[in-house]
Amino acid sequence: MKTRFAPSPTGPLHLGHAFSAITAYNLAQTESGEFLLRIEDIDQTRARAYWEEQIYTDLKWLGLSWPDPVMRQSERQETYEQVLDRLWNDGFLFACDCSRRDIKEAASAPQEGGAPVIGADGIVYPGTCRDKLRPPRRPALALRLNMAKAVARVPKVLKWAEFGEDGGVIEIATETLIENIGDVVLARRDMGVAYHLAVVIDDAEQEISRVVRGADLQPATPIHVLLQHLLNLPVPDYHHHRLIRDETGKRLAKRDDARAIGKYRDEGFSPNEIRNLIGL
Ligand code: GLU
Repeated sequence: MKTRFAPSPTGPLHLGHAFSAITAYNLAQTESGEFLLRIEDIDQTRARAYWEEQIYTDLKWLGLSWPDPVMRQSERQETYEQVLDRLWNDGFLFACDCSRRDIKEAASAPQEGGAPVIGADGIVYPGTCRDKLRPPRRPALALRLNMAKAVARVPKVLKWAEFGEDGGVIEIATETLIENIGDVVLARRDMGVAYHLAVVIDDAEQEISRVVRGADLQPATPIHVLLQHLLNLPVPDYHHHRLIRDETGKRLAKRDDARAIGKYRDEGFSPNEIRNLIGL
């Protein structure tokens, strides 16, 4: 089995990250598989070398190891561009110049029902630019997937094996993605490739057989499985784990510096005490 931990170096790793990384690492260990690390630094406006260094320090301190070199998304733009070109040439993408505000206004228009539909990927795109005559691929603000076209190309039911808390074979009628998710953004002018596409390309490239990540990303999985079919990539198994919450039941976020692994280390906690804290 091959697992991975794929943090974004945009802040300190906290207890939730420790849970994710150790769960993925242990799974690979028990099956004499391999655990990989991937740095998800496509958002260069937020990624910092300092946080990347901290990721290595924290994970090593927790007792994890991984093969070098580590995959870094910032070094893979060319690969992503090739996939975007392919999708563009096959007619699955359209250029979109809508701002967030345009989208909100259009999605709230009376003919759209008055209130925007919030799907797994935020507001379901109201379709403003979908059928506009195609301008050259750049310099649009974003490239979106024409979900209806994509759905027509892939199996009617998306299936994958889930090994998290609600394990089993998950089946989703692909049709539902048109209404519930809509035309997701796959590239942005300021950022290059978007998370959904990069994660799918990279999990395939690293031959990850089980994707371990927090339950907060579970709603994005149908998008990922759809993209895997569209790009003829293997569908890995998924393991969405419970989220680590603070005493008030709120889930930890990047800004929860109070629960940063480095902070516990500075306070004299041992890696084993961290494991105990998160129940591993
Ligand atoms: N890079 C993402 C994050 O930091 C995780 C992506 C994934 O595990 O699929 O939350």
